[in-house]
Amino acid sequence: MRILLANPRGFCAGVDRAIKIVDMCLDVFGPPVYVRREIVHNSHVVKDFRAKGVIFVDELEPVPPKSVTVLSAHGVAPEVFAQAQAKELKLIDATCPLVTKVHLEVHRFVREGYHIVLIGHDGHDEVIGTMGEAPEHTTLVEDEQQARSVDLSAHEKLMVLTQTTLGVEDTQGIINILKERYPQLDLPPTDDVCYATQNRQDAVKALVEAGMDFLLVVGSSNSSNAARLVEVGEARGVRGFLIDGIEQIDEAWLAGVTCVGVTAGASTPEHVIQQVLEYLKQRGGTGVETITTVEENTVFQVPLTLRREVELRAAAQPQN
Ligand code: SF4
Repeated sequence: MRILLANPRGFCAGVDRAIKIVDMCLDVFGPPVYVRREIVHNSHVVKDFRAKGVIFVDELEPVPPKSVTVLSAHGVAPEVFAQAQAKELKLIDATCPLVTKVHLEVHRFVREGYHIVLIGHDGHDEVIGTMGEAPEHTTLVEDEQQARSVDLSAHEKLMVLTQTTLGVEDTQGIINILKERYPQLDLPPTDDVCYATQNRQDAVKALVEAGMDFLLVVGSSNSSNAARLVEVGEARGVRGFLIDGIEQIDEAWLAGVTCVGVTAGASTPEHVIQQVLEYLKQRGGTGVETITTVEENTVFQVPLTLRREVELRAAAQPQN
């Protein structure tokens, strides 16, 4: 059985930055550090941080006043900043800059008189945050069925924005339907589906072309971009499963497989991917061939306030 490993896979620049921010907060301020929602959608990352003294909360209510609190990579609605201010929290925002870009687009286009049509998954943290920027000027569309039935004004200016982690092809299908029904619909100058989502989906397509007949996507069940990777394989006739780790692999899946592809969502740590590769090698896998579609070199800086805090603490340390 051949093993094909997708590159790029796993951590994107936004996840890398969010994890760095929480690590730096633990170093600089010490535990407990509060994090609103899962910092990134991965059970291993969350479990490791819990062990280091991070307390995850769904909302800010239980967080004691003035505590160090990090906002997750998925972004929040403006009311969360107001709640944090009221509690005088030491707030560090780990929202991915590419999610912030979509929030800024909401403001810009609403100012320009548009109604926003947001394509995304209802209830996802990112969608809740983006909708919260201008709820009265935003309509959520989840899929092609909703694109066919949604009731928008035929006379109002409409701008389509999207969640950053959607399937590229599905999103285009939804936009096509909307455009047919509402010809005045506009698109932003740059795509909202982020580079990492796009690159990981392209990498799965390359695995299909290289002969993959079964796909394992390593990622947690609440990771939107990981779930989309399974769909990209399935759309090309390749059976696949989303697994959080080796404990979720059913060995029977491998019966008759000649070429297994492995990839991972943008929030999956590399060590979990390596465990999956080991598992496959021990069950007849012959080496690992890496299929590279693009080299990623995007890096996002951690917030300046946090970098300054690190410098201040270092300067205050007694010299030998
Ligand atoms: S998947 Fe894209 S939008 Fe989400 S954190 Fe990563 S780079 Fe940012």
